[in-house]
Amino acid sequence: MHISLEHQVALVTGASSGLGAGAALALANAGASVVINYNRHAEPAEALAERIRQDGGKAIAVHGDVSKEDDVEALFARTVDTFGALDILLANSGLQRDAATVDMTLADWNQVLEVNLTGQFLSARAALRQFNRQGPRPWVSKALGKIIHMSSVHQLIPWAGHANYAASKGAVDLLMRSIAQEVGCQRIRVNAIAPGAVRTSINQDTTTGDKASRLLELIPYGRLGEVEDVANAVVWLASDAADYVHGTTLFIDGGMSLYPGFKDNG
Ligand code: NAD
Repeated sequence: MHISLEHQVALVTGASSGLGAGAALALANAGASVVINYNRHAEPAEALAERIRQDGGKAIAVHGDVSKEDDVEALFARTVDTFGALDILLANSGLQRDAATVDMTLADWNQVLEVNLTGQFLSARAALRQFNRQGPRPWVSKALGKIIHMSSVHQLIPWAGHANYAASKGAVDLLMRSIAQEVGCQRIRVNAIAPGAVRTSINQDTTTGDKASRLLELIPYGRLGEVEDVANAVVWLASDAADYVHGTTLFIDGGMSLYPGFKDNG
């Protein structure tokens, strides 16, 4: 199966690092013009855009805090000003502020919900408005537009010491499914990806050293995830090869969501 996203425009939030950067590169390699959103780190975002351009692709890096309505509006406006349309949104930005619930500050609770949930809502809303504004582009895709929410296995698996994060991802699941139910009739496809443990800056402390081997016990497939594992799925889910996939979460977790702790307990 050959997947081409040529003539499509993709916007990836939080793409200066990790899964977002990997997905932006993979989308560009599949032929999409890519907007690389960053919040704090302009340099890696600009470097990624330059790399894509040098390889013959189209990319720009654009600042924006996804938890701020004005920033999100400006980000989408810049996308359409530059590339003329939007076909694919990967709402990827996310962060952790970990603490036992008893010690968790309201600031840490709010920040995680604002970025991981409100940011996903603001980005999805802006994408839906743009899809409706521009109308069908049947020469690029069967769908009017595609939205992929970046969730986590922790939309399903409770996570002590990370109640804010798990709550935000659990909410992303129902946000995604509610939007999907609402806009499927417009041929807008809405899905989510739920990674397990993929080596990036968000989890450096648990994916290296001794903690990495403890983590492996939670992964039936026996290895940590790599950025490409998720990037490949993003490209497929964004493409017409996945045209009948709507309102679902694709777990990319080496089986982490199979509750492997129960394996010898039957
Ligand atoms: P990462 O820290 O490299 O990436 C997160 C990105 O979000 C960063 O580029 C960061 O700058 C950006 N971001 C944070 N706040 C922002 C804001 N206010 N506005 C715009 N961007 C903002 O980590 P990652 O692992 O690549 O995480 C990407 C997504 O994948 C997150 O939503 C995370 O929850 C999810 N995820 C990751 C894993 C994993 O194992 N790495 C597992 C499950 C889910």
